[in-house]
Amino acid sequence: MFAVDRSRGYPQFTEEHDQLRKTVRDWCHKELAPHAAVWEAARLFPREVFDQAAQLGLLGIRVPEHLGGLGLDWWYTVCYAEEMVGCGLAGLTMALLVQSDMATPVILEIGDSYHQDNFLRPAVCGQAIAALGITEPDAGSDVAAIRTTARRDGDDYVINGSKTYITNGTRADFITLAVRTGAAGHEGVSLVLFPTDTKGYRVTRKLEKMGNHCSDTAEIAFDDCRIPARNLLGNEGEGFYYVMANFGGERLVGALTATAGAQRLLDNTAEWCRTRHAFGKNLMGFQTVRHQLVQYETELEAARQLCYRTVALVVAGDAAWREIAMCKLFCGEVANRIADRCLQLYGGMGYMDECEASRVFRDMRLITIGGGTSEIMREILTKICL
Ligand SMILES: Cc1cc2nc3c(=O)[nH]c(=O)nc-3n(C[C@H](O)[C@H](O)[C@H](O)COP(=O)(O)OP(=O)(O)OC[C@H]3O[C@@H](n4cnc5c(N)ncnc54)[C@H](O)[C@@H]3O)c2cc1C
Repeated sequence: MFAVDRSRGYPQFTEEHDQLRKTVRDWCHKELAPHAAVWEAARLFPREVFDQAAQLGLLGIRVPEHLGGLGLDWWYTVCYAEEMVGCGLAGLTMALLVQSDMATPVILEIGDSYHQDNFLRPAVCGQAIAALGITEPDAGSDVAAIRTTARRDGDDYVINGSKTYITNGTRADFITLAVRTGAAGHEGVSLVLFPTDTKGYRVTRKLEKMGNHCSDTAEIAFDDCRIPARNLLGNEGEGFYYVMANFGGERLVGALTATAGAQRLLDNTAEWCRTRHAFGKNLMGFQTVRHQLVQYETELEAARQLCYRTVALVVAGDAAWREIAMCKLFCGEVANRIADRCLQLYGGMGYMDECEASRVFRDMRLITIGGGTSEIMREILTKICL
Protein backbone atom coordinates (compact mmCIF):
# COMPACT_ATOMS: atom_id res chain seq x y z
CA MET A 1 0.00 0.00 0.00
CA PHE A 2 2.80 2.40 0.97
CA ALA A 3 6.31 2.48 -0.50
CA VAL A 4 7.94 1.35 2.72
CA ASP A 5 10.27 -1.47 3.72
CA ARG A 6 8.24 -3.04 6.50
CA SER A 7 11.15 -5.03 7.89
CA ARG A 8 13.45 -2.00 8.25
CA GLY A 9 14.87 -1.23 11.67
CA TYR A 10 15.75 -4.87 12.22
CA PRO A 11 19.49 -5.42 11.72
CA GLN A 12 18.73 -9.13 12.06
CA PHE A 13 17.51 -9.04 8.45
CA THR A 14 20.73 -9.16 6.43
CA GLU A 15 21.38 -9.41 2.70
CA GLU A 16 21.30 -13.20 3.09
CA HIS A 17 17.80 -12.95 4.53
CA ASP A 18 16.78 -10.80 1.57
CA GLN A 19 18.16 -13.46 -0.73
CA LEU A 20 16.02 -16.13 0.88
CA ARG A 21 13.01 -13.79 0.64
CA LYS A 22 13.66 -13.36 -3.06
CA THR A 23 14.10 -17.10 -3.61
CA VAL A 24 10.75 -17.85 -1.95
CA ARG A 25 9.01 -14.93 -3.68
CA ASP A 26 10.23 -16.00 -7.13
CA TRP A 27 9.27 -19.63 -6.50
CA CYS A 28 5.79 -18.62 -5.37
CA HIS A 29 5.34 -16.28 -8.29
CA LYS A 30 6.66 -18.55 -11.04
CA GLU A 31 5.93 -22.11 -9.92
CA LEU A 32 2.99 -21.98 -7.52
CA ALA A 33 0.66 -19.00 -8.07
CA PRO A 34 -0.07 -19.86 -11.74
CA HIS A 35 -1.61 -23.16 -10.59
CA ALA A 36 -3.61 -21.75 -7.69
CA ALA A 37 -7.09 -22.06 -9.22
CA VAL A 38 -6.52 -25.63 -10.46
CA TRP A 39 -5.05 -26.90 -7.19
CA GLU A 40 -7.76 -25.25 -5.11
CA ALA A 41 -10.44 -26.85 -7.29
CA ALA A 42 -8.67 -30.24 -7.14
CA ARG A 43 -8.58 -29.94 -3.33
CA LEU A 44 -4.89 -30.97 -3.44
CA PHE A 45 -1.56 -29.70 -4.72
CA PRO A 46 0.98 -32.09 -6.28
CA ARG A 47 3.37 -33.98 -4.08
CA GLU A 48 6.31 -32.61 -6.11
CA VAL A 49 5.82 -29.26 -4.37
CA PHE A 50 7.35 -30.85 -1.25
CA ASP A 51 10.38 -31.84 -3.36
CA GLN A 52 10.71 -28.33 -4.76
CA ALA A 53 10.48 -26.82 -1.27
CA ALA A 54 13.13 -29.27 -0.07
CA GLN A 55 15.46 -28.37 -2.92
CA LEU A 56 15.20 -24.72 -1.90
CA GLY A 57 16.06 -25.76 1.67
CA LEU A 58 12.72 -24.57 3.04
CA LEU A 59 11.83 -27.79 4.83
CA GLY A 60 14.86 -27.61 7.09
CA ILE A 61 15.77 -23.95 7.51
CA ARG A 62 16.78 -24.31 11.17
CA VAL A 63 17.88 -27.96 10.92
CA PRO A 64 21.69 -28.33 11.15
CA GLU A 65 23.57 -29.01 7.94
CA HIS A 66 24.74 -32.45 9.09
CA LEU A 67 21.06 -33.49 9.10
CA GLY A 68 20.42 -32.07 5.63
CA GLY A 69 19.12 -28.64 6.68
CA LEU A 70 20.37 -25.09 6.14
CA GLY A 71 21.40 -24.53 9.78
CA LEU A 72 19.99 -20.99 9.83
CA ASP A 73 18.15 -18.95 12.46
CA TRP A 74 14.51 -18.03 13.12
CA TRP A 75 14.78 -14.77 11.13
CA TYR A 76 15.08 -16.89 7.98
CA THR A 77 11.93 -18.74 9.01
CA VAL A 78 10.25 -15.32 9.26
CA CYS A 79 11.27 -14.54 5.65
CA TYR A 80 10.01 -17.95 4.48
CA ALA A 81 6.67 -17.69 6.29
CA GLU A 82 6.04 -14.11 5.19
CA GLU A 83 6.94 -14.65 1.55
CA MET A 84 4.95 -17.89 1.16
CA VAL A 85 1.72 -15.87 1.15
CA GLY A 86 2.77 -14.73 -2.34
CA CYS A 87 1.66 -18.09 -3.75
CA GLY A 88 -1.95 -17.23 -2.95
CA LEU A 89 -2.51 -20.74 -1.60
CA ALA A 90 -2.96 -20.69 2.15
CA GLY A 91 -3.56 -24.46 2.17
CA LEU A 92 -0.23 -25.14 0.50
CA THR A 93 1.57 -22.80 2.87
CA MET A 94 -0.05 -24.56 5.82
CA ALA A 95 0.89 -28.01 4.49
CA LEU A 96 4.55 -27.03 4.08
CA LEU A 97 4.66 -25.35 7.48
CA VAL A 98 3.18 -28.46 9.09
CA GLN A 99 6.10 -30.36 7.58
CA SER A 100 8.85 -27.85 8.43
CA ASP A 101 7.65 -26.16 11.60
CA MET A 102 4.98 -28.27 13.29
CA ALA A 103 5.59 -32.01 12.86
CA THR A 104 9.40 -32.10 12.76
CA PRO A 105 11.04 -29.52 15.12
CA VAL A 106 10.37 -31.78 18.09
CA ILE A 107 12.36 -34.58 16.38
CA LEU A 108 15.34 -32.26 16.17
CA GLU A 109 14.92 -31.16 19.76
CA ILE A 110 14.45 -34.45 21.57
CA GLY A 111 14.96 -37.17 18.97
CA ASP A 112 17.99 -39.47 18.96
CA SER A 113 20.05 -40.33 15.88
CA TYR A 114 17.65 -43.16 14.93
CA HIS A 115 14.68 -40.72 14.92
CA GLN A 116 16.64 -38.04 13.12
CA ASP A 117 18.05 -40.33 10.42
CA ASN A 118 14.81 -42.18 9.74
CA PHE A 119 12.23 -39.42 10.09
CA LEU A 120 13.70 -35.91 10.23
CA ARG A 121 16.24 -36.31 7.43
CA PRO A 122 13.71 -37.74 4.91
CA ALA A 123 11.25 -34.93 5.81
CA VAL A 124 13.90 -32.24 5.31
CA CYS A 125 14.89 -33.58 1.89
CA GLY A 126 11.26 -33.98 0.75
CA GLN A 127 11.31 -37.79 0.59
CA ALA A 128 8.76 -38.14 3.37
CA ILE A 129 5.63 -36.11 4.09
CA ALA A 130 5.05 -35.48 7.77
CA ALA A 131 1.86 -34.84 9.74
CA LEU A 132 1.17 -33.88 13.33
CA GLY A 133 -1.44 -36.06 15.03
CA ILE A 134 -2.80 -34.59 18.23
CA THR A 135 -6.48 -33.70 17.82
CA GLU A 136 -9.10 -36.42 18.28
CA PRO A 137 -12.86 -36.48 17.74
CA ASP A 138 -13.34 -36.01 21.50
CA ALA A 139 -10.25 -33.98 22.42
CA GLY A 140 -9.00 -30.83 20.71
CA SER A 141 -8.26 -27.88 22.98
CA ASP A 142 -8.03 -30.30 25.89
CA VAL A 143 -4.91 -32.20 24.74
CA ALA A 144 -4.62 -33.99 28.08
CA ALA A 145 -7.91 -35.77 27.30
CA ILE A 146 -6.67 -37.73 24.26
CA ARG A 147 -7.74 -41.38 24.17
CA THR A 148 -5.62 -42.99 21.44
CA THR A 149 -3.66 -45.61 23.35
CA ALA A 150 -0.18 -47.05 22.92
CA ARG A 151 0.19 -50.24 24.95
CA ARG A 152 3.69 -51.56 25.49
CA ASP A 153 4.07 -55.17 24.28
CA GLY A 154 7.65 -56.46 24.36
CA ASP A 155 9.75 -54.30 22.04
CA ASP A 156 6.66 -52.71 20.45
CA TYR A 157 3.84 -50.30 21.13
CA VAL A 158 0.37 -51.38 19.98
CA ILE A 159 -1.71 -48.35 19.00
CA ASN A 160 -5.51 -48.06 18.93
CA GLY A 161 -7.71 -45.03 18.42
CA SER A 162 -8.35 -42.20 15.99
CA LYS A 163 -7.33 -38.64 15.15
CA THR A 164 -9.10 -35.94 13.20
CA TYR A 165 -8.46 -32.70 11.26
CA ILE A 166 -4.96 -33.94 10.43
CA THR A 167 -3.23 -31.75 7.85
CA ASN A 168 -1.31 -33.76 5.20
CA GLY A 169 -3.27 -36.68 6.64
CA THR A 170 -4.25 -38.42 3.40
CA ARG A 171 -0.67 -38.79 2.17
CA ALA A 172 1.65 -38.46 5.16
CA ASP A 173 4.49 -40.99 5.33
CA PHE A 174 4.78 -40.57 9.08
CA ILE A 175 2.92 -38.88 11.89
CA THR A 176 4.34 -37.25 14.98
CA LEU A 177 1.65 -38.75 17.14
CA ALA A 178 0.36 -38.00 20.63
CA VAL A 179 -0.74 -41.21 22.39
CA ARG A 180 -1.83 -42.32 25.82
CA THR A 181 0.72 -44.63 27.43
CA GLY A 182 -0.39 -44.06 31.01
CA ALA A 183 -3.32 -43.13 33.20
CA ALA A 184 -5.84 -40.38 32.43
CA GLY A 185 -4.56 -36.80 32.45
CA HIS A 186 -1.56 -35.02 31.02
CA GLU A 187 1.00 -37.27 32.70
CA GLY A 188 -0.20 -40.27 30.69
CA VAL A 189 0.59 -38.70 27.31
CA SER A 190 3.59 -39.66 25.16
CA LEU A 191 4.84 -38.78 21.70
CA VAL A 192 5.78 -41.39 19.09
CA LEU A 193 6.83 -41.38 15.45
CA PHE A 194 4.30 -43.41 13.51
CA PRO A 195 5.06 -44.75 9.98
CA THR A 196 1.82 -44.79 7.99
CA ASP A 197 2.68 -48.03 6.19
CA THR A 198 2.04 -49.80 9.50
CA LYS A 199 -0.56 -52.59 9.29
CA GLY A 200 -3.92 -51.54 10.77
CA TYR A 201 -3.57 -47.85 9.89
CA ARG A 202 -6.34 -46.29 7.78
CA VAL A 203 -7.31 -42.90 6.40
CA THR A 204 -11.00 -43.10 7.22
CA ARG A 205 -12.12 -39.83 5.61
CA LYS A 206 -10.80 -36.90 3.64
CA LEU A 207 -12.55 -33.88 5.12
CA GLU A 208 -14.10 -31.02 3.12
CA LYS A 209 -13.25 -27.58 4.49
CA MET A 210 -14.51 -23.99 4.12
CA GLY A 211 -11.01 -22.78 3.19
CA ASN A 212 -7.39 -23.83 2.70
CA HIS A 213 -8.84 -25.93 -0.10
CA CYS A 214 -5.67 -27.22 -1.73
CA SER A 215 -4.45 -28.87 1.50
CA ASP A 216 -5.70 -32.29 2.54
CA THR A 217 -7.22 -32.75 5.99
CA ALA A 218 -8.02 -36.23 7.22
CA GLU A 219 -9.62 -38.39 9.84
CA ILE A 220 -7.37 -41.39 10.55
CA ALA A 221 -7.70 -44.59 12.55
CA PHE A 222 -5.34 -47.02 14.28
CA ASP A 223 -6.39 -50.62 14.74
CA ASP A 224 -3.84 -52.72 16.65
CA CYS A 225 -0.98 -50.91 14.91
CA ARG A 226 2.37 -52.27 16.02
CA ILE A 227 5.39 -49.92 15.94
CA PRO A 228 8.86 -50.37 17.47
CA ALA A 229 9.15 -48.99 21.01
CA ARG A 230 12.25 -47.08 19.95
CA ASN A 231 9.88 -44.79 17.97
CA LEU A 232 9.06 -43.16 21.32
CA LEU A 233 10.28 -39.54 21.34
CA GLY A 234 11.89 -38.46 24.59
CA ASN A 235 10.53 -40.01 27.76
CA GLU A 236 7.29 -41.89 28.26
CA GLY A 237 4.71 -39.73 30.06
CA GLU A 238 6.31 -36.42 29.06
CA GLY A 239 4.54 -36.08 25.71
CA PHE A 240 2.16 -33.39 26.92
CA TYR A 241 5.07 -31.06 27.70
CA TYR A 242 6.72 -31.78 24.34
CA VAL A 243 3.45 -31.03 22.55
CA MET A 244 3.04 -27.75 24.43
CA ALA A 245 6.63 -26.70 23.68
CA ASN A 246 6.20 -27.69 20.04
CA PHE A 247 3.06 -25.53 19.81
CA GLY A 248 5.32 -22.48 20.30
CA GLY A 249 6.85 -22.61 16.82
CA GLU A 250 3.53 -23.62 15.25
CA ARG A 251 1.74 -20.64 16.75
CA LEU A 252 4.50 -18.22 15.83
CA VAL A 253 4.59 -19.21 12.14
CA GLY A 254 0.78 -19.14 12.17
CA ALA A 255 0.81 -15.56 13.48
CA LEU A 256 3.46 -14.55 10.92
CA THR A 257 1.60 -15.99 7.93
CA ALA A 258 -1.73 -14.55 9.12
CA THR A 259 -0.19 -11.09 9.41
CA ALA A 260 1.58 -11.34 6.06
CA GLY A 261 -1.55 -12.73 4.39
CA ALA A 262 -3.69 -9.88 5.71
CA GLN A 263 -1.03 -7.38 4.64
CA ARG A 264 -1.02 -8.72 1.10
CA LEU A 265 -4.80 -8.52 0.96
CA LEU A 266 -4.73 -4.97 2.35
CA ASP A 267 -2.18 -3.87 -0.27
CA ASN A 268 -4.28 -5.34 -3.05
CA THR A 269 -7.44 -3.82 -1.59
CA ALA A 270 -5.80 -0.38 -1.61
CA GLU A 271 -5.08 -0.86 -5.32
CA TRP A 272 -8.69 -1.82 -5.89
CA CYS A 273 -9.82 1.33 -4.05
CA ARG A 274 -7.68 3.42 -6.41
CA THR A 275 -9.40 2.02 -9.48
CA ARG A 276 -12.99 1.30 -8.42
CA HIS A 277 -15.33 4.25 -8.98
CA ALA A 278 -18.55 5.26 -7.23
CA PHE A 279 -20.36 8.59 -7.17
CA GLY A 280 -17.95 10.13 -9.67
CA LYS A 281 -14.67 9.34 -7.92
CA ASN A 282 -12.56 6.38 -6.99
CA LEU A 283 -13.08 4.77 -3.60
CA MET A 284 -9.82 6.27 -2.38
CA GLY A 285 -11.48 9.66 -2.80
CA PHE A 286 -13.70 8.94 0.22
CA GLN A 287 -12.13 9.91 3.51
CA THR A 288 -13.83 7.04 5.31
CA VAL A 289 -12.12 4.55 2.98
CA ARG A 290 -8.68 6.17 3.39
CA HIS A 291 -9.09 6.17 7.17
CA GLN A 292 -10.01 2.51 7.17
CA LEU A 293 -6.97 1.57 5.10
CA VAL A 294 -4.48 3.39 7.31
CA GLN A 295 -6.18 2.02 10.43
CA TYR A 296 -5.64 -1.53 9.13
CA GLU A 297 -2.06 -0.71 8.10
CA THR A 298 -1.44 0.47 11.67
CA GLU A 299 -2.95 -2.66 13.19
CA LEU A 300 -0.86 -4.90 10.95
CA GLU A 301 2.29 -2.95 11.84
CA ALA A 302 1.52 -3.61 15.51
CA ALA A 303 0.88 -7.30 14.77
CA ARG A 304 4.15 -7.62 12.86
CA GLN A 305 6.15 -5.85 15.57
CA LEU A 306 4.72 -8.23 18.17
CA CYS A 307 5.84 -11.16 16.02
CA TYR A 308 9.31 -9.71 15.47
CA ARG A 309 9.73 -8.94 19.17
CA THR A 310 8.73 -12.54 19.93
CA VAL A 311 11.16 -13.95 17.36
CA ALA A 312 13.92 -11.83 18.92
CA LEU A 313 13.13 -13.40 22.31
CA VAL A 314 13.07 -16.92 20.84
CA VAL A 315 16.41 -16.36 19.08
CA ALA A 316 17.83 -15.20 22.43
CA GLY A 317 16.80 -18.55 23.94
CA ASP A 318 13.64 -17.40 25.69
CA ALA A 319 10.63 -19.76 25.49
CA ALA A 320 8.43 -16.63 25.10
CA TRP A 321 5.22 -18.46 26.15
CA ARG A 322 3.54 -15.14 26.96
CA GLU A 323 4.50 -13.40 23.73
CA ILE A 324 3.74 -16.42 21.52
CA ALA A 325 0.22 -16.71 22.97
CA MET A 326 -0.20 -12.96 22.44
CA CYS A 327 0.99 -13.26 18.82
CA LYS A 328 -1.44 -16.07 18.03
CA LEU A 329 -4.30 -14.25 19.75
CA PHE A 330 -3.67 -10.71 18.51
CA CYS A 331 -2.46 -11.42 14.96
CA GLY A 332 -5.20 -14.00 14.41
CA GLU A 333 -7.99 -11.70 15.53
CA VAL A 334 -6.59 -8.66 13.68
CA ALA A 335 -6.01 -10.60 10.46
CA ASN A 336 -9.53 -12.02 10.54
CA ARG A 337 -11.10 -8.61 11.08
CA ILE A 338 -9.05 -7.06 8.29
CA ALA A 339 -9.91 -9.92 5.91
CA ASP A 340 -13.59 -9.25 6.65
CA ARG A 341 -13.25 -5.46 6.19
CA CYS A 342 -11.25 -5.78 2.95
CA LEU A 343 -13.92 -8.07 1.54
CA GLN A 344 -16.44 -5.34 2.36
CA LEU A 345 -14.40 -2.79 0.40
CA TYR A 346 -14.67 -5.00 -2.67
CA GLY A 347 -18.46 -4.87 -2.49
CA GLY A 348 -20.21 -7.57 -4.54
CA MET A 349 -16.92 -8.59 -6.11
CA GLY A 350 -15.67 -9.49 -2.62
CA TYR A 351 -18.35 -12.17 -2.42
CA MET A 352 -17.28 -13.80 -5.69
CA ASP A 353 -15.10 -16.90 -5.66
CA GLU A 354 -12.85 -15.30 -8.26
CA CYS A 355 -11.92 -12.50 -5.84
CA GLU A 356 -8.84 -12.87 -3.65
CA ALA A 357 -10.68 -11.24 -0.73
CA SER A 358 -13.25 -14.02 -0.74
CA ARG A 359 -10.59 -16.74 -0.57
CA VAL A 360 -8.52 -14.97 2.10
CA PHE A 361 -11.65 -14.40 4.20
CA ARG A 362 -12.36 -18.17 4.14
CA ASP A 363 -8.76 -19.25 4.63
CA MET A 364 -8.08 -16.76 7.42
CA ARG A 365 -10.92 -18.09 9.52
CA LEU A 366 -8.69 -21.00 10.52
CA ILE A 367 -6.05 -18.96 12.33
CA THR A 368 -8.14 -18.32 15.46
CA ILE A 369 -9.00 -22.06 15.64
CA GLY A 370 -6.14 -24.31 14.48
CA GLY A 371 -3.11 -24.86 16.71
CA GLY A 372 -4.98 -23.52 19.75
CA THR A 373 -8.06 -21.29 19.64
CA SER A 374 -8.16 -17.63 20.67
CA GLU A 375 -10.00 -18.72 23.82
CA ILE A 376 -7.18 -21.11 24.72
CA MET A 377 -4.62 -18.33 24.08
CA ARG A 378 -6.53 -16.19 26.59
CA GLU A 379 -6.51 -19.11 29.02
CA ILE A 380 -2.72 -19.43 28.68
CA LEU A 381 -2.29 -15.69 29.16
CA THR A 382 -4.56 -15.76 32.21
CA LYS A 383 -2.29 -18.36 33.79
CA ILE A 384 0.90 -16.46 32.92
CA CYS A 385 -0.16 -12.85 33.46
CA LEU A 386 -2.67 -12.82 36.30
C1 LIG B 1 -8.10 -26.98 8.87
C2 LIG B 1 -7.62 -27.56 10.17
C3 LIG B 1 -6.38 -28.16 10.22
C4 LIG B 1 -5.94 -28.75 11.41
N1 LIG B 1 -4.74 -29.42 11.42
C5 LIG B 1 -4.41 -30.14 12.52
C6 LIG B 1 -3.27 -31.00 12.50
O1 LIG B 1 -2.53 -31.08 11.51
N2 LIG B 1 -3.00 -31.76 13.60
C7 LIG B 1 -3.80 -31.70 14.73
O2 LIG B 1 -3.50 -32.40 15.68
N3 LIG B 1 -4.87 -30.88 14.78
C8 LIG B 1 -5.20 -30.12 13.70
N4 LIG B 1 -6.30 -29.30 13.74
C9 LIG B 1 -7.12 -29.26 14.95
C10 LIG B 1 -7.10 -27.94 15.71
O3 LIG B 1 -5.85 -27.71 16.32
C11 LIG B 1 -8.27 -27.98 16.68
O4 LIG B 1 -9.45 -27.88 15.89
C12 LIG B 1 -8.24 -26.89 17.72
O5 LIG B 1 -7.18 -27.09 18.62
C13 LIG B 1 -9.56 -26.79 18.52
O6 LIG B 1 -9.95 -28.05 18.99
P1 LIG B 1 -11.45 -28.57 18.72
O7 LIG B 1 -11.73 -28.40 17.26
O8 LIG B 1 -11.60 -29.92 19.27
O9 LIG B 1 -12.39 -27.56 19.48
P2 LIG B 1 -12.88 -27.71 20.99
O10 LIG B 1 -11.73 -27.97 21.86
O11 LIG B 1 -14.01 -28.67 21.02
O12 LIG B 1 -13.44 -26.25 21.27
C14 LIG B 1 -14.73 -25.82 20.85
C15 LIG B 1 -14.91 -24.36 21.31
O13 LIG B 1 -14.83 -24.32 22.74
C16 LIG B 1 -13.84 -23.40 23.13
N5 LIG B 1 -13.18 -23.84 24.36
C17 LIG B 1 -12.62 -25.04 24.63
N6 LIG B 1 -12.06 -25.05 25.84
C18 LIG B 1 -12.28 -23.83 26.37
C19 LIG B 1 -11.95 -23.19 27.60
N7 LIG B 1 -11.23 -23.83 28.55
N8 LIG B 1 -12.33 -21.92 27.81
C20 LIG B 1 -13.04 -21.26 26.86
N9 LIG B 1 -13.38 -21.79 25.67
C21 LIG B 1 -13.00 -23.05 25.43
C22 LIG B 1 -12.87 -23.35 21.98
O14 LIG B 1 -12.09 -22.16 21.99
C23 LIG B 1 -13.82 -23.44 20.80
O15 LIG B 1 -14.33 -22.18 20.53
C24 LIG B 1 -6.74 -28.67 12.58
C25 LIG B 1 -7.97 -28.01 12.52
C26 LIG B 1 -8.43 -27.47 11.34
C27 LIG B 1 -9.77 -26.80 11.32
